[in-house]
Parts: sequence; C-alpha cells; structure tokens
Amino acid sequence: MERIISPDLLNNEAFAEKSLRPRSLEYFTGQKEICRNLRIFIDAARTRNESLDHVLLSGPPGLGKTTLAQIVAYEMGATLKVTAGPVLTKPGDLAAILTNLSEKDVLFIDEIHRMYPAVEEMLYPAMEDYKIDIVIGEGQTARTLRLDIPPFTIVAATTRLGMLSQPLRERFGIPFRFEFYTKDELASIISRNAALLMIGIDDDAATEIAVRSRGTPRIAFRLLRRIRDFASVDRVECISHGLATSALDQLKVDPMGLDSEDKRYLEVIRDLFGGGPVGLETIAAALCESKNTIEEVVEPYLIQIGFIQKTPRGRILTDKAIVQCQA
Ligand code: ADP
Repeated sequence: MERIISPDLLNNEAFAEKSLRPRSLEYFTGQKEICRNLRIFIDAARTRNESLDHVLLSGPPGLGKTTLAQIVAYEMGATLKVTAGPVLTKPGDLAAILTNLSEKDVLFIDEIHRMYPAVEEMLYPAMEDYKIDIVIGEGQTARTLRLDIPPFTIVAATTRLGMLSQPLRERFGIPFRFEFYTKDELASIISRNAALLMIGIDDDAATEIAVRSRGTPRIAFRLLRRIRDFASVDRVECISHGLATSALDQLKVDPMGLDSEDKRYLEVIRDLFGGGPVGLETIAAALCESKNTIEEVVEPYLIQIGFIQKTPRGRILTDKAIVQCQA
C-alpha cells in the first residue's frame, strides 16, 4: 500500500519530493531491466537469508538512484543509513558509520565518485571481507587493529561512473546504469504523482508534460508542481492539455523539453564557436558555469537526443540541433 500525504505537508516541496518516492519495486516505473534483475537478486538473497551484494547505480541526476536505494532497503526488510562521498573527509568518519551497522543494513553512499582516496582504501576490506583496519596511536607506537563488521550492503550512486577507480568499481557485484525514461513511462509517473497530490490530470496533459521533462522524473515532478500552482490560481481541479501547454510555455520549457540553460549552451557553441568543435573548459568559461554541471546535468540529455557529439577535439553541434536553434 502507498501512503497518501496530507495537502499541508505536501506544500513543503522538499517533503513532497521525499514522500512521493515509490516505496517498493512494484511502484517503481521504468528501468525495467534493472527492476527485473534486482527482483531476482533480492529474492535470492532473502531466500538464502544473506545480505544483498553491493549495488552501484550510475546515471544522470534525477533518474531515481536514491529512490531505488530506499527501495532496496525496503524490499530487503533492512534499515537504510545514508551518507555521501564528500561528507566522509577522513577514514574515521567511515569507520564510525561502519562499526554502527547491524547485519543486512543498507548503507547508501551518494556521489561515491567524490570519495577521498584514504576513505576509499578503508572501504575495500569492508566490502570484500566485512573487516576494517583502524590505526591506533601515532608515529612509532601506531598499530593497526582489524575489526569485524556485520555483513551489510552498500548501495552507491554516481553521476560520473568514469571517475570511479577500477578497484572500487570491481567491488560492486551488481552494477546498474540508469537510462532516460520514455514518454509513456514519464506520463504514468506524472499521473500517479498527480493522484498523490490530489489533483486531476488528463492523459494528453500528462503526455505533454512528459515530452517536456528531458526524460527525467525529477523534472517531470517539478513541472507538475508548478502547473498545479497555475491550476490552483485558476481554481481548476483537473489539469487539461490546454492548461498544461500554456503553463509550460510560461515556464519557458520548450516542446522538446529544453530549458534556458540548454538553449544558452547550444547558442554559445553555435554563435561563439561556429558550431564547434570546442572544448568543455571553453564552454564552461563562456557560460560562467562549472564543468561538472555541464557534463553531469546539461550534456547527457543533449547527447541522448542527438544534439551534440563529444569528439576528441571537443563538442560539435549536430545538424539536428542547428535546425532546432533556428526554429
Ligand atoms: P537521483 O538520486 O537519481 O538524483 P531521485 O531518486 O532523487 O534521483 O529521484 C528524483 C525524483 O524523481 C524523486 O522525487 C522520485 O520520487 C522521482 N522518481 C525517480 N524515479 C522514479 C520512478 N521510477 N518512478 C516514480 N518516481 C520516480
């Protein structure tokens, strides 16, 4: 069963995003292959009464990695502990978490590609043998103490798989790569979320929002909440196609889902660099944006829809993008 949350609480955006996450695999739409395999691995681990092997989730932001980590814990009947790569600044930070785990707990490590090397070293024996090495004392009197920790599962998420070291990647028995969602999958997520937000939505309105959501549930949900605001002001109880389209136009989300950030990126390559090739650093400087944001947030979708090509000499705008820019 899913929980329906009171409208008061849903006005809190952060709470709304958290509480509308699907809680079980059954309600997780899309990523079919991942869900099919995960179901098998979870059922097998539960039958053997073992902890699940470590899971690595990679893909662009907003596709459901954190949500799936929560689902893994829920399906395993385990407790979820949450941390993130950059938060663990020294091995002791990780040791404190690992020594407090109970058997079969799920430890979610977000942004694992930003983990410090010294902390990563401590993770290897923990993942492989459920042991950690703690250094006690300093200088000549320092000695290493090997501690047992209970069998547990790490679910790690990354938007930059390429930045993970080979030894770390190899220690994850279950690696999954997230894909952008199809229009129909997003439309069904939007309809379900509208029901949980207690607002009606026509099928063609859900499809219109889906088309403009860059294949990403987080964006779909954000747009739905904004369109719900338009509906509230108009005192409308069901979002029609007309209302969705006019709200999306006012929000400056174009029919392909490109937002102002995408357009600026495409225009910079077209107008300042003759369509490319141009290097990432140059684009970042021209946009006053970080290289990370461009690589992790802006580019994956533009590559997916065939608007840019990454080549060894830099980024190139495709003919398809040039036609779209002129439209
Ligand atoms: P990530 O960790 O990949 O950045 P999240 O798990 O935080 O993404 O998901 C972002 C939002 O999208 C959440 O509100 C979540 O409920 C929603 N979401 C993601 N994937 C799905 C899905 N498959 N079905 C329904 N909602 C989803």
